[in-house]
Amino acid sequence: MKKGNSRRLVILTYHRVVADDPLKDPDEIDEQQFRMHVATLSRFFNVLKLSDAISGLRNGGLPSRAVAITFDDGYKDNVTAALPILEHYGVPATFFIATGFLDGGIMWNDTVIESVKRFEGDRIDLDELDLGSYPAREPGERIAAYRQIVGKLRYESQERRDVLCKAIAERLEVRLPTDLMMSSDDLPTLRAAGMEVGAHTRSHPILAVVSEEDARREIVDSKRDVEQIVGTEVSAFAYPNGRPGQDYKDCHVDMVRDAGFELAVSTAAGCVSAEADVFQLGRVSVWHRSRPKLVLRMLKNYFLGEPATA
Ligand SMILES: [Zn+2]
Repeated sequence: MKKGNSRRLVILTYHRVVADDPLKDPDEIDEQQFRMHVATLSRFFNVLKLSDAISGLRNGGLPSRAVAITFDDGYKDNVTAALPILEHYGVPATFFIATGFLDGGIMWNDTVIESVKRFEGDRIDLDELDLGSYPAREPGERIAAYRQIVGKLRYESQERRDVLCKAIAERLEVRLPTDLMMSSDDLPTLRAAGMEVGAHTRSHPILAVVSEEDARREIVDSKRDVEQIVGTEVSAFAYPNGRPGQDYKDCHVDMVRDAGFELAVSTAAGCVSAEADVFQLGRVSVWHRSRPKLVLRMLKNYFLGEPATA
């Protein structure tokens, strides 16, 4: 085996990098934690653009301790909070954009979360919508409330969920933010800073539950959207939710390949070897707050090939 071909790549998944917010979901990473991650990764590992890492994996040119940083969905804080940190440490990342939410859009789960965060009152009463009633005095109560409501809505059909989310915002009488997601202008900004931009469908449907026609349109249109905005070809795709066999099926892998993408990432836990299917690359979520634990977990991935999500 050629040198480098036995090497492994760890692809890390991030979503938001939130500012100091008492109502932040404890599972979300904040700026300080992200800075620690990037400082650690840039010091002890070789951080590559995802497409460069996959080329290296194919031609045996992957460096040791290779890692690719990816962000899903296209949150504005990726540009305002994460990008300056990445630039400071001189490391690239790949951003997967759900293009339908650019320029003022909001995803359904954020509609719930932002409604609960912004509600002015002591009790969130959604009994009329069959979604329960929750105390909302303390930050912890509000966090518990939006987590429970999101959990209840996750398994609703897309149509019903959209109706319920709109009803929640109306019932709680909140004005939703229009700057939670990136604007179109942010995509060329990311590219100019040496970052990679990939596609993540338009409206973030679970591909396995929409029609094949809709799934194909979502995949193809998001590629075209990003290409029109950045003016270059887009080679990387991320499946919404991303669990193989559950959130997407084999037919969607074929659609992604047919659309002209060169690689795609799932949310299956694991690191990537030269034998990996480049249209279903596994990823790793690292939530460790301390540097030694982060480094240890990363090293276990390289040397043991151990999937890591904790
Ligand atoms: Zn996503």
